[in-house]
Amino acid sequence: MDNRLNLYNTLSKKVEPFVPREDGRVRMYTCGPTVYHYAHIGNLRTYIMEDVLEKFLRYLGYDVTRVMNITDVGHLTSDGDTGEYKMLKGAKREHKTVLDLARFYTDAFFEDCRKLNIKTPDIVEPATNCIDEFIHMITVLIEKGYAYLAGGNVYFDTSKLTDYYVLSSQNEEDLAVGVREGVEEDANKRNKTDFVLWFTKSKFEDQELKWDSPWGVGYPGWHIECSCISMKHLGEYLDIHCGGIDNVFPHHTNEIAQSEAYLGHKWCSYWFHVLHLNDASGKMSKSKGDFLTVSLLESRGYNPLVYRLFCLQSHYRKPLVFTYDALDNAAVAYNKLVARIRSLKKEGSADMTAAGPLREAFIEALGNDLNTSSALTVLYDVLKSDLDDLQKRTLIEDFDRVLSLDLIRAADEKDTAGTDPELEAYILERIEARKAAKKAKDFAAADAIREELSAKGIAIKDTREGTVWELVK
Ligand code: AMP
Ligand code: ZN
Repeated sequence: MDNRLNLYNTLSKKVEPFVPREDGRVRMYTCGPTVYHYAHIGNLRTYIMEDVLEKFLRYLGYDVTRVMNITDVGHLTSDGDTGEYKMLKGAKREHKTVLDLARFYTDAFFEDCRKLNIKTPDIVEPATNCIDEFIHMITVLIEKGYAYLAGGNVYFDTSKLTDYYVLSSQNEEDLAVGVREGVEEDANKRNKTDFVLWFTKSKFEDQELKWDSPWGVGYPGWHIECSCISMKHLGEYLDIHCGGIDNVFPHHTNEIAQSEAYLGHKWCSYWFHVLHLNDASGKMSKSKGDFLTVSLLESRGYNPLVYRLFCLQSHYRKPLVFTYDALDNAAVAYNKLVARIRSLKKEGSADMTAAGPLREAFIEALGNDLNTSSALTVLYDVLKSDLDDLQKRTLIEDFDRVLSLDLIRAADEKDTAGTDPELEAYILERIEARKAAKKAKDFAAADAIREELSAKGIAIKDTREGTVWELVK
């Protein structure tokens, strides 16, 4: 096991050496999707970067147990306790029951993950499986004086904590902004930051899923699920908790509040947050404009792994702006990389001693707060190095255990073509140019490129998976 990961911790606001509580074992928790709609590619940026973190930990030799919840109850559109109820809104939109909606979008989420080579966590638990655990934790919080009943609901009393804002730099002023943006205040709350642990009275009286509880028939608030599901499977101490940056407040702040009040000790050591992917107009949305999903990218001819590469090209702690031009650049980079790997022969030395320094450089790049773009640079360095072809292939395959770009498989798939890599790079470049011309509605230019290729004995065909080509004998 290799101790060389340094990771930014939202809790300390510093890059710190990563040291799990138990030597060699990592307990990792990920906030899962709210399954009321498809995931957009912004959500998936977060899951891709978390996947890289998990795989790098495994690469270093840690025994990782990763747990993810599925939010199929409780999450309201405002992220606080007001706003619309997400699952109910989705069920009405699609004339489905909440459970059918949850099942459909849970499957869709894992299908997207599969296409992006995101490993399924070891344990995936829907919130509706754990109602007894929620009731138990809420009961203990009431007994310990951290929670109170008001207007039929159970609230967490944030004034009982010495430092509620351990994770975020939120203050009363920021909260007031939230209020100005139209979030209604709940008159039952003793303090503005208090949050609902269990609802029996809400404006969502037509809520389908309700359970009996000591406080009446109702349903859980959103935050309680992650604390309970994490403790159910990973125990009282967590090494890493992950999520998108929007989860810092209120979701993770509230998770810490209730977990530590319940346990009576510190709960999680490292908090890992991925910055948002935005579109050119700003925030990524599921309701307005182009709803950017993996399926949409596929229908436009992109290989989902090109989107994964696009994410790996930038650091997870920087916001990223999505444009089709940027994705086109990633597609060119991906195809060129595959073409270069394809040109490697499968003969050479099985001895990997000479590959040591490049492997070290790869670990150093990812160990430096998961610097994936530096890790990609090391990948290019492998191709440029003095290693023989087989050593290069072996090392690239090794790096791909973390990067998961299917580089060797993609290179071998078209291996039968036996095409000269330079010719292939030229063909791929012309295909991209034709795509750009079609996008710009310059169909004459697009046709001219087809003719140009055809004159050289190269036939191209547009398919759902993108444009494919073959040499006409
Ligand atoms: P949700 O399905 O809304 O619960 O979100 C699933 C995950 O995606 C959470 O970890 C969010 O923090 C994260 N997320 C939401 N929007 C974005 C975005 N635009 N870019 C990156 N991650 C996001
Ligand atoms: Zn969560």
